Amino acid sequence: MSPGGFDVIDVIRTKRDGDRLSDDQIRGFMEAYTSGRVADEQASSLLMAIFWRGMAPTELSTWTAAMIASGQRLDLSGVGRPTVDKHSTGGVGDKVSLPLVPLVAACGAAVPQLSGRGLGHTGGTLDKMESIAGWRAGLEPAAMIEALRKVGCVICAAGAGLAPADRKLYALRDVTATVESIPLIASSIMSKKIAEGTDALVLDVKVGTGAFMSDVGRARQLAETMVALGTAAGVRTTALLTAMDTPLGRTAGNAVEVAESLEVLAGGGPADLVEITLALAREMVALAGLSDAGPASDPAAALADGRALAVWREMVAVQGGDPDAPLPVARAGHVVRAPRAGYVTRLDARAVGIAAWRLGAGRARKEDPVSAVAGIRCVAKPGEAVEVGGPVLELAIDDPGRLDAALAALEAAFDIGPEPPPPTPLIIDRITA
Ligand code: URA
Repeated sequence: MSPGGFDVIDVIRTKRDGDRLSDDQIRGFMEAYTSGRVADEQASSLLMAIFWRGMAPTELSTWTAAMIASGQRLDLSGVGRPTVDKHSTGGVGDKVSLPLVPLVAACGAAVPQLSGRGLGHTGGTLDKMESIAGWRAGLEPAAMIEALRKVGCVICAAGAGLAPADRKLYALRDVTATVESIPLIASSIMSKKIAEGTDALVLDVKVGTGAFMSDVGRARQLAETMVALGTAAGVRTTALLTAMDTPLGRTAGNAVEVAESLEVLAGGGPADLVEITLALAREMVALAGLSDAGPASDPAAALADGRALAVWREMVAVQGGDPDAPLPVARAGHVVRAPRAGYVTRLDARAVGIAAWRLGAGRARKEDPVSAVAGIRCVAKPGEAVEVGGPVLELAIDDPGRLDAALAALEAAFDIGPEPPPPTPLIIDRITA
């Protein structure tokens, strides 16, 4: 027992035995662990006990609040517009934040998007943005607030001061097989988003082979848990469950995804990407209380009339980027062809994500660099017809030494059949408080 009455062994024992942790136990643990007074082996035991025993809703709210209290919570009250953000649990070709953030700003809200880098087969928003010449991810909180006031949106790296307890706990979960716990995932995501200071939040919880969760029941449980946590913390929160069995849009990589996002901002782009972008934008505009403002707050109008693109250009320029600079392109390519004529009946998101990652678009370890130009273009997607020998996938190659490993990931990536597959919905469900 420590002099202050906090006993970490008692905390571990309480959860091990399936009992509820008290508020004092939770706050005591978080404070002591973040300041280095609880050993990693003790924190690991508690995480494993939570993995098996779970957490009651009020216990999880206190746990999340304690994670937030381990750092600073940004105050965005001075930005002069309602604030609303989006978080995606990540998928292959998920470049939605790029068109969505300036689009929602063009509809009158302020969007403080603090993002991360990619790890594994799903890409990171910052890695994509960094393929724009001159663009920098780092902004101090004061500069971020200034950008929100001036432009209405920002995409930047989350500073080290937001929910530092999460950084320590996430690293420990990674090496103790305790990542896949719904309360631990929900508190990790929501502590960072709530600390960001947004008034409202829309969650895009992806379900399918290319997503963090392939089981719709678990994805729904995660979405419900996060919506409840946001609501309990005073952040208006809703979630969409969206399909991630096939890549979103036609590209997976960094510069190639920026180029596709620009197509959406110019009023075009692939139908699935536009559908998800508009669905999330409408949710965000509604949560920001702006849906009654007529065409000024209509996301489809803001895409069609160029307002969203104009905000994108300002957003890029504020962070040193040149919105007119050509995006880098790969000097070498390789085409994966259809072995027979027919319709693509399946194009597996996970396989495409792993292949793009192996080409160099993603990283295996946090400190690895990524290639701006490596990536994959899906020439034929499920439901589309192909000729024998016609292109299905085009690989953009930065390092030719990586091609064989990428092709190995694509060996069983798609099927071709005599009929197109039945259409499946992209937006599976909507979860509200
Ligand atoms: N993303 C996070 O930020 N935390 C998790 O636990 C999982 C995904």
